[in-house]
Amino acid sequence: MDKISAAADMIAQSKKIVIFTGAGISTESGIPDFRSPGGIWDRFDANAFTYPKFISSQANREMYWDFSKTIWPAIAQAEPNAGHYAVVELHRMGKLDCVITQNIDFLHQKSGVPEDKVIELHGTLKGVTCLECDRKYPREQIQKRLIGSAEKVPKCDSCGGILKPTTVMFGQPMPEWETNEAETRSARCDLFLVAGSSLVVYPAAQMPVVAKHGGAKLIIINLTPTPHDHYADVVINEKIGPVLSEIVKQARAKLKN
Ligand code: NAD
Repeated sequence: MDKISAAADMIAQSKKIVIFTGAGISTESGIPDFRSPGGIWDRFDANAFTYPKFISSQANREMYWDFSKTIWPAIAQAEPNAGHYAVVELHRMGKLDCVITQNIDFLHQKSGVPEDKVIELHGTLKGVTCLECDRKYPREQIQKRLIGSAEKVPKCDSCGGILKPTTVMFGQPMPEWETNEAETRSARCDLFLVAGSSLVVYPAAQMPVVAKHGGAKLIIINLTPTPHDHYADVVINEKIGPVLSEIVKQARAKLKN
């Protein structure tokens, strides 16, 4: 049996599917990932954007906001692709337990997955928060301020505190509720499907292992090999959009027969 058909069988037989996504599901929407050639880390220095560096110096904050100002338009304007819509189809089929995403681009919600079924492990770029008083701002509002003035690092209107996007930076504690919820859902699912993650960023990369230990089947769809491939029942090194659409289409057909 070929891999697509085997994966479709697993979907048809499952009742609680967790979809785990990384930057790779959004490259077909025009948002570069971090680690592929031409990805974000080829253009910016990853070490410059850690949380300890962000809070410790104005120069680092300027560098971070300059980066953020550059990437925001591409993320704000991006549209979901066939991979995101295949996940929506699983929801419509009544099979989707939740999406656990490392992405900050809110494309799963844009594609039609209900908000309460999306666990954003690394936050979202949609918001900005004050590190002093916790006031929240829409990211778009801050973008207008950055473009329309000489302001390099936006400050809180209420208290003058440092503003930071509501994403989880390297070196920043993971959000407690999301991390616990992701672990619980991973442990309880009967099928865990990774779509577009290098599976090297922890603790997110632990979730497929948690699922496997809980007795779930594991499918990995990623262009390049991952360190967890040996745990997987099926590994497909192809583009998510066409492959996941075909898998879901075949799973639907198997359920009708
Ligand atoms: P990553 O960049 O480490 O890995 C992405 C993986 O996706 C790579 O292994 C690559 O081979 C694969 N890939 C790329 N395009 C693909 C395609 N069309 N089909 C199948 N596979 C494809 O990203 P990661 O594992 O998500 O982890 C790094 C961090 O990067 C995460 O915290 C994530 O939040 C952040 N990030 C998010 C976005 C986004 O929100 N879209 C973009 C860049 C980085």
